[in-house]
Amino acid sequence: MTLVIHGGAGTIVKENMTPEKEAAYRQKLEEALAKGYSVLEKGGTSLEAIVAAISIMEDSPLFNAGKGSVFTNEGKNEMDASIMDGKTTMAGAVAGVTNIKNPITAAMAVMNQSKHVMMAGAGAEKFAKQVGLEIVDPAYFHTDSRYHQLQKIIKKEEMQLDHDGDQGSLKNNYNDYKYGTVGAVALDQYGNLAAGTSTGGMSNKRYGRIGDAPIIGAGTYASNKACAVSATGHGEYFIRSVVAYDIAALMKYKNLSLSQAADEVVMKKLVATGGGGGVIAVDKKGNIAMPFNTAGMYRGYIKAKGKAKVFIYKEE
Ligand code: ASP
Repeated sequence: MTLVIHGGAGTIVKENMTPEKEAAYRQKLEEALAKGYSVLEKGGTSLEAIVAAISIMEDSPLFNAGKGSVFTNEGKNEMDASIMDGKTTMAGAVAGVTNIKNPITAAMAVMNQSKHVMMAGAGAEKFAKQVGLEIVDPAYFHTDSRYHQLQKIIKKEEMQLDHDGDQGSLKNNYNDYKYGTVGAVALDQYGNLAAGTSTGGMSNKRYGRIGDAPIIGAGTYASNKACAVSATGHGEYFIRSVVAYDIAALMKYKNLSLSQAADEVVMKKLVATGGGGGVIAVDKKGNIAMPFNTAGMYRGYIKAKGKAKVFIYKEE
């Protein structure tokens, strides 16, 4: 049994961290791994384990998912999430939701309790309420730190506009848009893989923008025939590169190992296009890969009770 998680990639460097903040992140990652692993140990499925692990991170304001989600340009929190079952290749996703406490549970409900794969906005929220998921006031997702981040980004953008004069010249740099998407992949005792991802998206996003996290094949993919993958990074690039599926396809059609396939996509193909970010992945044998092309990525794995390993920076 194996569980791997991420809490987002980006310019995560020691210089910008306090020891307290770093300890808080490590502790939360360990808690999520312990929770997910206990589900696996009790005979739970890989799907149940990743929902348990992701819910812990969604409930924490440290990560850009659930509580702690980044803000849109209009000052709202709009979340995306998806989940995929490697055994059946069934999948579920929600996009642009504003009042579902744990969007990953809504993705699971779409997969298990509807005929559809993806639901967006008000419809997804209506469905979530109907199936009995916890609905909260959108104000629940507000955190001051994320709100200040938005103000800073908007100010920077205005200064750039004043300087450059037209919108086309705005730099779309992932590192300015703040990270913290969460995800999990798991292999259970029945030999089944699953993957899930949940995010507030990119700070300052506009016009109903949806990222890669709820797109099956881009931000999330699982097939027992290859691997389970969850991504974090600049969504526009991850969608165009069909990142998660590409890793699985390289294994399936080119017989690459998990780490070869993940490295090929994250460290070569994405780097060549300018797509900053990383992935976590696990295969049927319990091999794991956690490559990222940014300065850091919150990440960790567990393969035995009490033996969670968590990492933040590149040098770890
Ligand atoms: N991939 C997410 C998105 O583009 C953001 C992130 O992972 O930081 O919405």
